[in-house]
Amino acid sequence: MLVASGMLRDVLDGAVDLLLGGACVGCARPGRALCPTCAALLPSDARPRWPDPVPPGLAPPWAAGEYDGALRAMVIAHKEHRVLALRRPLTTLLAASVAALLGESAPGPVVLVPVPSRPGAARSRGHDPTAALTVGAARLLRATDQDVIARPLLRSRRGVVDQAGLGAVDRSANLAGSMRCPSGPLRRLAAIRPRARFVVCDDVLTTGATTREAQRALESVGLTVAGVATVAATRRRNRSEDP
Ligand SMILES: [Zn+2]
Repeated sequence: MLVASGMLRDVLDGAVDLLLGGACVGCARPGRALCPTCAALLPSDARPRWPDPVPPGLAPPWAAGEYDGALRAMVIAHKEHRVLALRRPLTTLLAASVAALLGESAPGPVVLVPVPSRPGAARSRGHDPTAALTVGAARLLRATDQDVIARPLLRSRRGVVDQAGLGAVDRSANLAGSMRCPSGPLRRLAAIRPRARFVVCDDVLTTGATTREAQRALESVGLTVAGVATVAATRRRNRSEDP
């Protein structure tokens, strides 16, 4: 059902674009969803971007850029408005983030694990943006001969509310124990990648609470988390600067 309705929505989205004309999400120039000028300005310096405060024990969080400007507009347009033309550039940024993270660690098989969407969110959005970006990033990295696959190993339990609008402390409380790692997919994975390390993938790192919970769920079943890779991270702020 999800696939069928998703396909129908793709067709409709395309028709709407043809009728109304698309525009760049970065500068509103008519034409492509991302114009060449804005595309050329996308970040190319993936590096660790730590939230402040840092959730205790958080694995190194790498991000391709700051969650601001055109990059922020791209993430929102892709996630909430299904502007699928942005999937390729966002996938490239996530792959760059993973590659930079892995460049700092030992070689060996790596499994990218997307942060799971809230129950029902993928259905209401008509797609699972983080899972799609993660699968795409693994494919890009395999094309450069790296042993990287993507597996959606985590599930969200019901009862988790939307994180938007919650502060760091509330986010942690909302998320504690909210993800789990079912044993079936894990067993199948152990058969093909017995000594893999794991990277938690998400589109945006804000307080780090979500990725920390994903890391906890993976580590609770004995997996080694090498780090966190995201497309973008919100600018590091002091707590005194929080609204
Ligand atoms: Zn533009």
